Amino acid sequence: MPLLPLLSIVIPVYNEEHNIKLLIASIEDQLSNYSYELIFVDDFSTDATRDVIQSHSNPHTILIAFEHNKGQSSALAAGIKTARGRYIVTMDGDLQNDPSDIPKMLDLIQNDGWDMVIGFRQNRQDTFLKTMPSKIANFIIRKTTQLQIRDSGCALKVMTSKTAKQLPLHGELHRFMALNAHINGARIKETPILHHPRIHGVSKYGLERTFKVLKDLSIIIYNHKLPQSPSVRT
Ligand code: UDP
Ligand code: MG
Repeated sequence: MPLLPLLSIVIPVYNEEHNIKLLIASIEDQLSNYSYELIFVDDFSTDATRDVIQSHSNPHTILIAFEHNKGQSSALAAGIKTARGRYIVTMDGDLQNDPSDIPKMLDLIQNDGWDMVIGFRQNRQDTFLKTMPSKIANFIIRKTTQLQIRDSGCALKVMTSKTAKQLPLHGELHRFMALNAHINGARIKETPILHHPRIHGVSKYGLERTFKVLKDLSIIIYNHKLPQSPSVRT
């Protein structure tokens, strides 16, 4: 591996013991042509997640181990801070995102000059109780900001290191990485990606997330002068 990897893949994990092995195998398979580091941030899992990461560690993997559960945003923040790659990928650790989408997203950044490419889960494999509030939240985001993307909550993103390292990631701001990048002046592109049902483990969020999303959105709109021209083309 060269001194600095091209890609840093940052994956927050909380109780994903049965997903880790398959995820590492899939990343190794799909990214064998790239230099990358794979940063797992274990958000104080209470199952065997940490042991499984350690037992499958290889020269690509880095483990950041939290000593209490700090949440997905803090886990992403810690991973992004550690990341040394020129480009940073964020994704979930539950096998719902597919590493096979990463090369084409990276290609859009390297060849078309976007600062962030965010996935659009066009065949989203979640329950109605998850997808419906998400559609409403995305509609409100589109109406209240110039960010015209359809899937702000999609975890799979590829961005330049600079774009990632500028993002605020306290509280639950992982849901607003695209909006905050947009506010910071990033050029953002949305692209359709695969989405798989969760087979192992459970979702860590319920309906209450909808209210947090609306509260966080109001705070962001109140505190920032939003760019007037859409930075997003799809
Ligand atoms: N996650 C985390 N800390 C938390 C909650 C979730 O690190 O407190 C991780 C989780 O293990 C997964 C990702 O964040 O890798 C997204 O969580 P989840 O799949 O439960 O969210 P959903 O897809 O249901 O929105
Ligand atoms: Mg998930």
